[in-house]
Amino acid sequence: MIIVMKAGAAKKDRDVVLKSIRELGYKPHIIHGETRDVIGAIGGDHGKTALQRLETLHGVEQVLPILQPYKLASKEIKKEASLIRISDNVVIGGTQVVVMAGPCSVESEAQIIESALAVKKAGAHVLRGGAFKPRTSPYSFQGLEEEGLKLLAKARDLTGLPIVTEVIEPETAELVAEYADILQIGARNSQNFALLKKVGQLQRPVLLKRGMSMTIQEFLMSAEYIMSEGNQDVILCERGIRTFETATRNTLDLSAIPVLKGKTHLPVVIDPSHGTGNHHYVAPMCYASVAAGADGLIIEVHPDPEHASSDGAQSLRPEKFEEMMAKLRLFAEVDGRTL
Ligand code: PEP
Ligand code: MN
Repeated sequence: MIIVMKAGAAKKDRDVVLKSIRELGYKPHIIHGETRDVIGAIGGDHGKTALQRLETLHGVEQVLPILQPYKLASKEIKKEASLIRISDNVVIGGTQVVVMAGPCSVESEAQIIESALAVKKAGAHVLRGGAFKPRTSPYSFQGLEEEGLKLLAKARDLTGLPIVTEVIEPETAELVAEYADILQIGARNSQNFALLKKVGQLQRPVLLKRGMSMTIQEFLMSAEYIMSEGNQDVILCERGIRTFETATRNTLDLSAIPVLKGKTHLPVVIDPSHGTGNHHYVAPMCYASVAAGADGLIIEVHPDPEHASSDGAQSLRPEKFEEMMAKLRLFAEVDGRTL
């Protein structure tokens, strides 16, 4: 349920509402608006009627039900787009199209430093690189783990780029959070509820990928798992879903952008690398994503894709990435955005 306070309601009235919500067994969640506060009462259906009665309290304008099963992620509770601050000069969800780029996996110091310098030069805002890799085969490269995190931190020190890297299990989530500016939850883990709850308790923005067979509603329910633990900084990432089509690795669902924008205040980022699986298709999907209203992109870039330990076929060479960025800037400008 949503408790809408009157414009200019006193703090003591709000405190009474918060206390009543807790007494009814719900978790209050305040959203400060420009003229009034809105308080979400998060929990099951058991106390709905009792919550409705809070309408009689002083300073309360209205009590409304939240119709969607996802509550904190829903536009019903917060109409304005969420702005998620990553660093002093990177905010996702506003007019800037935020580009995260780098190799699929961190492979060596030379590789990640070369990648970081190249993507920075081309205008990327965040460096990506996997240190813990969730591979389909147990025999494939599994990542450099903590050594990889240290190399990412070195690349950040050198370039000033914040880093996004994947967390694959609750046990190592805190370790990853010591290094990362954004915690990535991969497609294969997007319904790993123990992991979602764990990152919900950490103070780091989360880039949540859509699972390859997940509906939009399931995707938003996964975001809700993170938010219900206290972390509101969730960035949704469409990375392609599995369909009958085999000409591309996945089918990049760009219609997810307007669909999500209609349902949630959370920012939406597109991953055209995993979405297509082929470096030839990445640039056109980047342009299309910005045209469709994406808040950002996450793109695989590798200095030597033929010898990459993972996902070489879908990785852009630095020169191609730079070319794509120059053209992307024009698409962004047409829409009144910056890059
Ligand atoms: C990745 O970003 O390298 C990755 C493994 O992505 P996904 O979870 O989307 O497959
Ligand atoms: Mn990859």
